[in-house]
Amino acid sequence: MHPFIYHRPANVNDAVTLAAKGPDHKLLAGGQSLVQAMKLRLSSPSDVIDLGSIKDLSGIKASGSEVTIGAMTRHAEVEKSPEVRKAIPALAALAGQIGDRQVRAMGTLGGALANNDPAADYPAAVLGLGATIVTNKRRIPADEFFKGLFETALAQGELITSVVFPVPKRAAYTKFKNQASRFAIVGVFVAESSSGVRVAVTGAGPCVFRQKDMEKALAAKFSPESVAGVKQAASGLNSDLHAGAEYRAHLVTVMAKRAVENALK
Ligand SMILES: Cc1cc2nc3c(=O)[nH]c(=O)nc-3n(C[C@H](O)[C@H](O)[C@H](O)COP(=O)(O)OP(=O)(O)OC[C@H]3O[C@@H](n4cnc5c(N)ncnc54)[C@H](O)[C@@H]3O)c2cc1C
Repeated sequence: MHPFIYHRPANVNDAVTLAAKGPDHKLLAGGQSLVQAMKLRLSSPSDVIDLGSIKDLSGIKASGSEVTIGAMTRHAEVEKSPEVRKAIPALAALAGQIGDRQVRAMGTLGGALANNDPAADYPAAVLGLGATIVTNKRRIPADEFFKGLFETALAQGELITSVVFPVPKRAAYTKFKNQASRFAIVGVFVAESSSGVRVAVTGAGPCVFRQKDMEKALAAKFSPESVAGVKQAASGLNSDLHAGAEYRAHLVTVMAKRAVENALK
């Protein structure tokens, strides 16, 4: 790890003022991705801006139709939150499947979304539920947030403050996990709400994406059989030592069918 200057601002304004100084000034949330990258010297920031003292960035608020989760809220807090478990049980269950106990104790919602790892779980929930990412500057709909491999709509120095999740009629997330890291080889989030059906796939491609053919089939009839016959094309999907593209394509249909079964339970 290269030397760096450590900052611990007390509020969002001070954090974004520091972060705006340049790409070498990095925000630090749970450190579960950034610190690994620094140890491997894949990232060598000159300045690290720890968000851990900014109280406004943590916490969970539920109204009838929405759940708002602060960017610094840890995965374990989402997993155990009575409000999330009641309003969006699929989201609490997803948080409980991220990594191991230590990762869930430290990792945060904002860090996971800003990082946008192709195999991360939260992007599937955010896109599948049609959530809104709130930053210090604007509100970004999920459909416009995830841009590509480790790439998002965030500008240099822009800070995620919270995420607003609409409460669906029903939803479920099913993943085929990497046995070592528990990242998704393929994960599918299915949600039905008054505005329609959304199906979001993580792990399979370079970035989370919506499976529109499955959405159409489920809008006609929300049943596992509706997606069982919908095939995902393998072209453009990830192929690595964990799974080939054809296998991942097959898993998309299998995980989607199981997610619909679980949503109907
Ligand atoms: C062993 C291991 C297993 C894991 N398994 C899984 C898994 O199964 N599923 C899964 O989804 N993830 C998994 N993860 C990743 C984990 O969920 C991380 O917590 C997450 O990717 C990053 O969140 P963080 O809070 O640690 O962010 P950090 O590592 O602190 O930051 C990550 C990036 O986000 C930026 N950032 C952080 N917060 C903000 C913010 N509020 N606004 C703007 N930018 C911000 C940082 O500058 C940095 O570039 C695993 C990690 C490890 C180490």
